[in-house]
Amino acid sequence: MSDLTSIKGLGPKSIEYLGNLNIHNITDLLEYYPYKYNFISLKTLDEIKDTNGFVEGIVESIALLRRFGKMNSLNFRVGINKKIVNVVIFNRAFIRTNIKPGTNVTIFGKYDEKKNSLVASDISFGKFIGNHIESVYHLTSGISMANMRKYMLSALNSGVEVPDYIPDYLNEKYGFITKKTAIKKIHTPIKTDDIKKAKLKLIYEELFLFMFKINYLKKIKKATKKEINRNVDIERVNEFIRTLPFELTADQNKSINDIYEDMTSNKLMNRMLQGDVGSGKTVVAVIASYINHLAGYQTALMAPTEILARQHYENIVSLLDGTGVKVALLVGSLKKSEKESIYNDLINGDVSLVVGTHALISEGVNFKNLGLVITDEQHRFGVNQRANLRNKGNDVDTLYMSATPIPRTFALTLYGDMDISNIKTKPKGRKEIETIIKGKDEIKDVLQIMLDTVKEGHQVFIVSPMIEENEEFNLTNVVKLKEQINTAFNNKIKTEILHGKLNKEDKEKVMKDFQSGKTKILISTTVIEVGVDIKNATLMVIFDAERFGMSTLHQLRGRVGRNSFDSKCILIGDSSNKRLEALAESNDGFYITEKDFELRGEGDLFGVKQSGDMTFKIASLKEDYKILLQAREDSKEFIQQNAKEGFKLYPEYIKIVKDITNLD
Ligand code: ADP
Ligand code: MG
Repeated sequence: MSDLTSIKGLGPKSIEYLGNLNIHNITDLLEYYPYKYNFISLKTLDEIKDTNGFVEGIVESIALLRRFGKMNSLNFRVGINKKIVNVVIFNRAFIRTNIKPGTNVTIFGKYDEKKNSLVASDISFGKFIGNHIESVYHLTSGISMANMRKYMLSALNSGVEVPDYIPDYLNEKYGFITKKTAIKKIHTPIKTDDIKKAKLKLIYEELFLFMFKINYLKKIKKATKKEINRNVDIERVNEFIRTLPFELTADQNKSINDIYEDMTSNKLMNRMLQGDVGSGKTVVAVIASYINHLAGYQTALMAPTEILARQHYENIVSLLDGTGVKVALLVGSLKKSEKESIYNDLINGDVSLVVGTHALISEGVNFKNLGLVITDEQHRFGVNQRANLRNKGNDVDTLYMSATPIPRTFALTLYGDMDISNIKTKPKGRKEIETIIKGKDEIKDVLQIMLDTVKEGHQVFIVSPMIEENEEFNLTNVVKLKEQINTAFNNKIKTEILHGKLNKEDKEKVMKDFQSGKTKILISTTVIEVGVDIKNATLMVIFDAERFGMSTLHQLRGRVGRNSFDSKCILIGDSSNKRLEALAESNDGFYITEKDFELRGEGDLFGVKQSGDMTFKIASLKEDYKILLQAREDSKEFIQQNAKEGFKLYPEYIKIVKDITNLD
């Protein structure tokens, strides 16, 4: 019944075209909402001097036809607002005979007062049909606006009904119109109020359903019991914390507490640890792995790149020194025999913590008793990769670490099924990074600052973005940049280039020379390693800063200021750019994320748009935030009241719940 073939005028070709818009049945069509409306009202000549509009008049002459090449035009006179106006319309020779003195016409066009001429883009015979509202849809090739509207009318009259997912008591509470009326009004509104009421209903419904799914998912995850009990004496953890070379910040302590509670409870941990670059997430991860070790389980820590994995490894080995925890590094570039020896240690349980890249997911890797999986920079891994690693054990707790905080809205939606710990306070003694914007014409100043930095015994990062998809081109760019810098400093300062085309060994050599302080200035084409920790670097210079996203810029500058020296970040770009301005204004990653969210669309943020879960038909997380909050509370209450009885009063929800349960 909901078959598209039952719509008048819809042939197999058009049905195929509609498929490109994800419209596969009448319900899909009815839920394909207009993205805007044209408010059509009669205008005066005066009002259509700058923009096209409708005017009404009476024809005063016959039409003169002109032909030029394949084109033609009709010229005739029309009385409009007590004025005789010359009207011209192109390529409508076929209506010539309809143009007769005394005929009523409605013309859509623009009026040129000087020439007293009206260029019409459309004309219809008869009086204006009255002010009305036109729905405007996103189209695809093969489907015209007129046809889309026609199909929609036919769908509205087809008798197909889209279920109303809002429980009656909420429809009543908010005085919502029925779903059927909402669908009719959203497509064929008579007045502005129709649009308002329809939108309110449909947006709320969409957000209610969305939050229902997330809240339900969270509920069943919470209810998942661990078979095992990671029983650990907190005193032993505290003992270890006392051996650390620094005092933990309040937020680090709080996060560790959250993690300890999760891990020693009988619920599976599913926690996200958010904190700015340099906020000290690694040590929290190490303590989590230590708790897991004390309980007798193994931990896997996965980093997105080999350089990061190595850095974590070295860092972690030194933090765990003296605890007896055996740590191993597993990365793709190891020799086969080295890998196999680690595989052995993992299956035997000789290694308690393995740090690595996606090499950890490979088939050869098996654990004696994996109990905790930690992923760093979690948004860089696909969901499947994470799940794969988790599946190498039973009842595995998971901890995600991210330096890109999620805007509040997303935190409670996209990641709504996770618990979150935030590290907002920076370790003591950290200086703020001063961020300044310099124009391209101020390179001399920038060079001077670089020179001063090196003279003080510190090091400099320079990042130049990919200008094109062409690596050769970008390479020439940085090579030139390097030459310019060398010339400016008379080749007295050692500079190196890091770029995507270097092979592994060369990359590592470049990094090593920079780490050891041999190289003073490191120029890299793109953001090669987000988390590299070079304590002596105090200056970050970013060319063409506008080409980077805000969170990337913020991460990049986080590579400096990892010490007690004054650090600087220079953004080379336009000082009136709002994004750069916000970065100069604040060092707070949470603020930057919110600002980014404000300045850009929600769909743009760090890859969120790829996630199909986040595409809404009518709601916007950003614009409809208040409704979202309401829907979130309402859906929680709805779950609370109906989950026990399996939603037996709400048949549509029985199906939704089944889908969610299968999904996980
Ligand atoms: P990120 O959150 O970016 O992963 P790291 O864990 O790499 O940050 O920490 C950055 C640096 O700060 C490391 O050198 C680490 O040893 C140091 N650090 C972490 N916590 C503290 C603290 N509480 N006090 C002082 N230094 C700390
Ligand atoms: Mg880190």
